[in-house]
Amino acid sequence: MKVTIHGSGDAFGSGGRFNTCLQIEAGDGRLLLDCGSSSMVALNKAGVSRSRLSTLLFTHFHGDHFGALPSFLLDAQFVSRRREPLTIAGPAGIEHRARHALEADFPGASTNRWRFPITYVEVTPGEPAELAGVAIEAFAMVHDERAGPCQGYRLTQGGKTFAYSGDTAWTDELIPLAAGADALLVECYTWDRVLANHLDYRTLRAHRGDLDTPRIILTHMGPDMLAHGEPLPETRAHDGMVLVL
Ligand SMILES: [Zn+2]
Ligand SMILES: [Zn+2]
Repeated sequence: MKVTIHGSGDAFGSGGRFNTCLQIEAGDGRLLLDCGSSSMVALNKAGVSRSRLSTLLFTHFHGDHFGALPSFLLDAQFVSRRREPLTIAGPAGIEHRARHALEADFPGASTNRWRFPITYVEVTPGEPAELAGVAIEAFAMVHDERAGPCQGYRLTQGGKTFAYSGDTAWTDELIPLAAGADALLVECYTWDRVLANHLDYRTLRAHRGDLDTPRIILTHMGPDMLAHGEPLPETRAHDGMVLVL
């Protein structure tokens, strides 16, 4: 399994980083995990063929994770001239949220006659799914229910598991999310400032022993986390980083 981190930034592009956008290549499967507002720039910069991505999977409905969906769809229609089927997956309400976002960003576009079939799939905790040949398990995270349900995911294929928290404060659900995973990509927005909806490094560090995974990669770092440049036992994500599991 290969994970390319096209966007490792927070909601505000701190540090010049793109919003969250992860490309998963596993067996024949190609999917995007989150597609935040700046992701079309990131995907174009990296030369990613959008038509080869069969599936978009979202953690929650904040713009820095979900915001490029309308542009992705219009690119598929008018630029990439996609013919391949597209699956749009995410928490409960994904279809309604997608149609609403499309109409808000490009009025009238929600009535487009798409040149490719679109299938919406809700992925919910406790109900394992399979997307693009990858086994998906969702876990309920603690972030902002106005933009939720907010979920983290375990993606398993070929005996390898990649876990991703999405956005969340500390929750014990991170323990089963990470358990036995080959790598955990986890948000780490602040250094030691505790917030109700994001993780800080100090809290994450205090729970390190609970996270049964050999590899932790920190992402979604805000300004004060980015300002701490000292060596850490965890790896810091950066745009363009590739993880091979
Ligand atoms: Zn975010
Ligand atoms: Zn968020």
